[in-house]
Amino acid sequence: MANSTPNSTPKTSTDPTTNGKATRIRVKNLPSTQKLKGIMTRYLLKSKLHSVLPWKKTAWVAAGFPVELCYALNIFPYHPENSACISGARKVSQTLIETAETMGFSRDLCSYFKTNVGAVETKIKGSLGGIDKPTFLASTNTICDTHVKWFQIQARKYGVPYFGFDIPSAVDGVNDERLEEYVDYVVDQFHDFFAFVEKHTGQTLKESRFFEVLEKSDRLCELWQEIYEYRKLTPTPVAFQDTLGAIFPLVLLPGLDEGIRYYEDLLRDTKARVAEHRGAMPLGQEKYRILFEGIPMWYRIKYFHQLANYGGVVTYEPYTFSFGPRKKLGLSFKESLREMARMMMMIPYNYSLDRRIEYFENVIDEYSIDGVILHANMSCRPSATNMIDLKRAIQNDKKIPVLMLDCDMNDPRAFASGPMQTRLEGFVELLANNQKKSQI
Ligand code: SF4
Repeated sequence: MANSTPNSTPKTSTDPTTNGKATRIRVKNLPSTQKLKGIMTRYLLKSKLHSVLPWKKTAWVAAGFPVELCYALNIFPYHPENSACISGARKVSQTLIETAETMGFSRDLCSYFKTNVGAVETKIKGSLGGIDKPTFLASTNTICDTHVKWFQIQARKYGVPYFGFDIPSAVDGVNDERLEEYVDYVVDQFHDFFAFVEKHTGQTLKESRFFEVLEKSDRLCELWQEIYEYRKLTPTPVAFQDTLGAIFPLVLLPGLDEGIRYYEDLLRDTKARVAEHRGAMPLGQEKYRILFEGIPMWYRIKYFHQLANYGGVVTYEPYTFSFGPRKKLGLSFKESLREMARMMMMIPYNYSLDRRIEYFENVIDEYSIDGVILHANMSCRPSATNMIDLKRAIQNDKKIPVLMLDCDMNDPRAFASGPMQTRLEGFVELLANNQKKSQI
């Protein structure tokens, strides 16, 4: 953490007068969070411009694909998963998903995929999650295999080329020698990808540009991680209400100055709050520090405000943190590609169960977490896999309540308001009891 470590204030105990009941509590966003809207609007305008100017080259990429390569190759990136969550937040995802289902895609499939199918089919506008036809599509099978079939289907629909990376799963027990073979295998694919891009766009990679983008991407991640360091404090100066939107530059702008300036502003706001001993929750209202795992329910962000009404504030999310790994700088071009290959294999969503439990238990300690919410989101198998085992391990080892939410990131049909509220209240009761026990 930069500068001096600020004083943290003691945790607020449960207020017995509220008796576990909700009161209206408003989480305060960092002042600079409001700049995000402008950043996203400028991105959407640029997207539109790139789609109509014939000499501009564009690509659809997905989570797990190193977007830095697009900027290094002068390709403008579109991100259908990001567009899908805009549809969710703007409350149009259900219609788009149902459109995809009428085309024959099953209810069990990833709702981002179906949102995108519906968005393309209905030609919905960008501000509602629409996306333009790209010059080509590129994805990987790291994190999930849906990306491959999804992009193949849409590439066929548009009649444009698709490049798919095959990323080996480096499961526990893989020795170093085998791991290096995997790295060789991925690096070969980088070279195939550069040839593919040159064939379809005429663009070639300049090493100086590649290093410039990598350096800026690392700076973005450095700032992101510094903000998370401050989230360890009590009260936390930054809530999920800020980070859930603020990941946008990590997803789509790594390597550009705009994201860096935005994160510098967020960090400055964070430090100002800490210096004044203020938190994201109003003074004295932070009762329970929550870890939330999974993609949020974009159509129901209100859920996190409901949690706040009981004094619960989400102070750490493995999902948002996972978008900002630091990059190794100062390596040769060859070594930088090898490092990029390692990062594509070592994404936290590829961790084994044991490693995942260890990771969660470490951050529970570091962020003084009182309770965990796991989003058992069957739409996104990689983030929902092993959640029952994870829940049991955390409850046994850390003795804190864990709530599992069975819903979906983009499909509101999977969100049953009544039962969700009942379970939230039950969770808060467990948090309150736990806190009372620890005070005895
Ligand atoms: S299953 Fe999850 S990781 Fe895969 S495309 Fe859907 S949201 Fe993305």
